[in-house]
Amino acid sequence: MSETLEQYYQALGISKNVYEFCQAMEKDLAPRFQGFDQVAEYNQLKVIRAMQEHKVSDYHFSDSTGYGYNDSGRDTLEAVYASVFHTEDALVRPHITCGTHALTIALSGNLRPGDELLSPVGKPYDTLEGIIGIRPQKGSLAEYGITYRQVDLLPDGEFDYEGIRNALNPRTKLVTIQRSKGYQPRRTLSVKRIGELIAFIKSIRPDVICMVDNCYGEFVETIEPTDVGADLCVGSLIKNPGGGLAPIGGYIVGKKEYVENAAYRLTAPGLGKEVGASLGVNRSFFQGLFLAPQVVNGALKGAVFAANIYEKLGFECVPDASESRHDIIQAVVFNHPEHVIEFCKGIQAAAPVDSHVTPEPWAMPGYDCDVIMAAGAFISGSSIELSADAPIKPPYSVYFQGGLTWHHAKFGIMMSLQKLAEAGLVTL
Ligand SMILES: *Cc1c(COP(=O)(O)O)cnc(C)c1O
Repeated sequence: MSETLEQYYQALGISKNVYEFCQAMEKDLAPRFQGFDQVAEYNQLKVIRAMQEHKVSDYHFSDSTGYGYNDSGRDTLEAVYASVFHTEDALVRPHITCGTHALTIALSGNLRPGDELLSPVGKPYDTLEGIIGIRPQKGSLAEYGITYRQVDLLPDGEFDYEGIRNALNPRTKLVTIQRSKGYQPRRTLSVKRIGELIAFIKSIRPDVICMVDNCYGEFVETIEPTDVGADLCVGSLIKNPGGGLAPIGGYIVGKKEYVENAAYRLTAPGLGKEVGASLGVNRSFFQGLFLAPQVVNGALKGAVFAANIYEKLGFECVPDASESRHDIIQAVVFNHPEHVIEFCKGIQAAAPVDSHVTPEPWAMPGYDCDVIMAAGAFISGSSIELSADAPIKPPYSVYFQGGLTWHHAKFGIMMSLQKLAEAGLVTL
């Protein structure tokens, strides 16, 4: 005899209460989900068109070793990325170890001693503090005589245009704009707003390099920051554009000169993109990019599902249950560490991998407090896979993202709710 869906959820530990609460929520969200489906359809065609344009063939999936000269798969993949992002050039490599590394080479490749870096959107992502030298760190840009200036967003979240105008000076060489909120309580920037900011900056200093940290933003909208004036756009392949299949890597797309400068940092001055064996990752990079629009679609549905559930239970959600989406991150402000820990336990318990382990807060490198991370991922640390993390400090917010499929994301959120309910921290 076959089990019903509800019995399946029950067998996996979901109570009747939680099941019914969540099923009703999913029904209400149908119109929202339809909007996400339209974006995914558009982006799917964008990726297919780029692959067709560059005549992707199965021989592009073979690997290279040693220096990696003339790796046509790698070079074609980069051409495909450049087409998807509508840029002159792209650097997409397994040798870029993570998003922080991609940002580091984009910055250090394009800045010289005496130059100034400006962030007009407040404090950048935590790991960037050491790179820039906001937090003292050996090897930081500050050690190389590159200064940093920051203009915070106004209390209402708007750009401080006057402050930005005053901060721009003849030494300003590069402006870094972080799309996603990271661990900040601010809103994620829409691509349209990023475009407005870039237009303002270029109206004062047309020659300044505008770089966008695009982490978690790829394929959430039908346009990317490079469609609205960004000279460089940077991200991680174990987030959105890797589609869950890329086992490592990062990308930098943009103007040829700036991408080349980054490549000179990744490999060596003069060698740049010419070297770098692909070591068998080409197929997963191509196939991951192909799947990415659909994977991001599932992650977005999960984020909105979570926001609606937790907001209904009285917790503040950022973004809130109804606002438009510009990245795949969902923050839930719990105000108590126990809630955060139970939430993460639920995400872990719903994983296809390592569901039997219990996440604990630990002193992660690059962060200034303990962090708890829940992830049962096929690719270690991949945050396009269903994952949750939280710095254990007030306001005790959990940051939740990913899900290679919508149904897994849904199950993970149901399980988080189950754990909170079992611990007596919420009542349905
Ligand atoms: C994830 C992320 C990064 C880079 O993080 P890695 O863990 O090094 O890949 C940078 N900026 C933002 C906004 C991010 O979300």
